[in-house]
Amino acid sequence: MRSRAWVEVDAGAIRRNLELVRSHVGAGARVVPMVKCDGYGLGAGLVVEALAPARPFAYGVATVDEGRALRALGVRVPVMVFCPAPPGDLARMARARLVPTISDLESLGVLANAACHADGAEPLPFQVEIDTGMGRSGFALSDAAQWWAEVRAVASPGLRLFGVFTHLHSADGADLGSARRQIERFDDFVGAVEGIPSDALLHVANSAAALRLELGAANAVRPGIFLYGGSVGHGAPTPETVAALRARVVMVREAAPGATVGYGATYRARGRERWATVAIGYGDGLPRELGNAGWALLRGRRSPIVGRISMDTAVVRVAGDVAVGDSVTFLGGDGEADIALGELAEMAGTVAHQVLAGLSARLPRLRMARSRDFV
Ligand SMILES: *Cc1c(COP(=O)(O)O)cnc(C)c1O
Repeated sequence: MRSRAWVEVDAGAIRRNLELVRSHVGAGARVVPMVKCDGYGLGAGLVVEALAPARPFAYGVATVDEGRALRALGVRVPVMVFCPAPPGDLARMARARLVPTISDLESLGVLANAACHADGAEPLPFQVEIDTGMGRSGFALSDAAQWWAEVRAVASPGLRLFGVFTHLHSADGADLGSARRQIERFDDFVGAVEGIPSDALLHVANSAAALRLELGAANAVRPGIFLYGGSVGHGAPTPETVAALRARVVMVREAAPGATVGYGATYRARGRERWATVAIGYGDGLPRELGNAGWALLRGRRSPIVGRISMDTAVVRVAGDVAVGDSVTFLGGDGEADIALGELAEMAGTVAHQVLAGLSARLPRLRMARSRDFV
């Protein structure tokens, strides 16, 4: 039985998008693909399989469980965990040989303690985040002299400083002034302090920054959304489309003038209309905001979504022929027509990241076939 709704992932496109980043930043910067949130909703296993031939230096995730999932997939390169962790997770990260992010002295103490109890011969790697303006995590620059001394003090023999990084808040905006100032603060810091190991990873850039800004002292970048087909603003290259979101028509009805559809009866047929009920809803991650506002592609033609989107179904108005079993595209290409990730996100009033992260576990993730007619 073929699926009612599914996600198709073009592995080759993910890899080519990574190579685009690589050719843009040059050989001087290592590339650390961000694969948090189950590979931006596309399936970490599929994404890692797609990226492995490009031999990334490391991978980035947000949580200890995501890191352990990569280890279970056989990933042997460093795995960096970027979200500040609750203290209990630090020992788990140490056991899985993940690279935790440290933003405060309390966590540093917990990690140093975990290192004392670790039986591995190698010191535990960790990275330090500094806050240059993002405001959510990272050591403050104002008292750097104080905390840096402690970081250096613990950084041997049980621990090893793997890297230092910061995060930019507006690298995708029209005005890059604030992003440049954040990079300056980062460069001033790494230029001023003593004791950063010569092999430490220094990084500031998400996708947008990697493709739109000069990276200063950094020797690595952390692209995410661009790898998965998300555009990152003016002046940057356009990524290849990676993901398609499709579902099947499960019912077709001829609506009489004045008939209504969906919760709240927010849409009313103006004349005789043909409605196709499609087996996908907000429970699958189709944003509810697209009700009466978004589009679908059916037999290569744009068809409006009518009425509110339900948890499991959505209804589209069809101008031509349609049959139960037809596949309907909400994201990605269908023949000559295409709904880009950025367009879908804008229609839903959000960002590409949230659209992908919202694709639910109910949807199987399939490899995209060369020919689109395999479905
Ligand atoms: C998610 C994340 C990134 C990647 O950002 P994109 O906008 O998806 O490229 C980079 N760095 C950190 C710390 C992140 O959390």
